[in-house]
Amino acid sequence: MLNAAVTKNKAILLGENVACDAHEDGRGVRVVTHAHYDHVFGLRDSLRKCGAVYATPLTRDMLCVLYGRRAEEVVPLRYGEPVMVGADVMTFYPSGHIPGSAQVLVEDPEGGRALYTGDFRLPGAPVIDADVLVIEATYGHPRCVRPPIDEVYDALMELVSSEVRRQPVHIYGFYGKVQEVMEVLRRNGIREPFLAEGKMYELTTVCAKHNLGIRDVINATSSEGLDVLRGDGGYVFFKHTSKLGEKVRGLKIHLTGWEFKVTHRKVSNDTYRVSLSSHSDFNHLLAYVEDCRPKLVIVDNSRDGYGAEFAREVKRRLKIEAIAMP
Ligand SMILES: [Zn+2]
Repeated sequence: MLNAAVTKNKAILLGENVACDAHEDGRGVRVVTHAHYDHVFGLRDSLRKCGAVYATPLTRDMLCVLYGRRAEEVVPLRYGEPVMVGADVMTFYPSGHIPGSAQVLVEDPEGGRALYTGDFRLPGAPVIDADVLVIEATYGHPRCVRPPIDEVYDALMELVSSEVRRQPVHIYGFYGKVQEVMEVLRRNGIREPFLAEGKMYELTTVCAKHNLGIRDVINATSSEGLDVLRGDGGYVFFKHTSKLGEKVRGLKIHLTGWEFKVTHRKVSNDTYRVSLSSHSDFNHLLAYVEDCRPKLVIVDNSRDGYGAEFAREVKRRLKIEAIAMP
């Protein structure tokens, strides 16, 4: 069976050559599965010491926005396009998490297969066959269960379309999730101006360049943006979660994975929480393992979430060998 492990430094090791989502000395190949900061650890070291650093073309462009020009040295690799890593072959697959995010499959010459899901979301991500499956477990506790995503989208649509006629709407979320919501709102007929600024605006431009169906987002600091902000019409202003505490005129909507069982909830006079996550919930994590049927499951226990709990549930419910690492 192909070697796989998760290190204390948060690197996911696949075979003998590949390290994903953190730098690991001695590995020839580094992968960044997506642009969230907790998967970009040690990028500078990897660019200096590894033979190559791979990411999907969209992730590479997002890294350039978030981490500057040094990310231009990241080598773009498309979904489904195999590349040799030593004697092994590595292939990326979509993970349904945020724009550009990837699962990573490494196959050895004997046909052994190790797969790392990265952060992923079902439905959306294809389930890839593997002997060893390294899986995230952000929501690996049985109580982490959400309504179906279409119901969440419907609730969000209703909230935005009814409120934006009365007052400005401010939507807070992580990079990538916000761009998903821009696309969903436009596709469902929201016509009011969309605003974003700084890195959120630049990332939106990058996603639009990669044909993600996001149109007409205005830079809030441009003269056009300032006109919208000064006017008395409605608009939707998209911002990073870290700005949630700010004072604004209008309604706040917080997109969060940590709201379970209900689609949305009013938490104060001017703030709603909407249960929209870019991750699989507990049932979808379990469904991935069940469909994949690996010989061994390694649960990433180096990042936030429920690694030990999820490994226990896999063993108990599916009778598949599972360990949490580190
Ligand atoms: Zn992520």
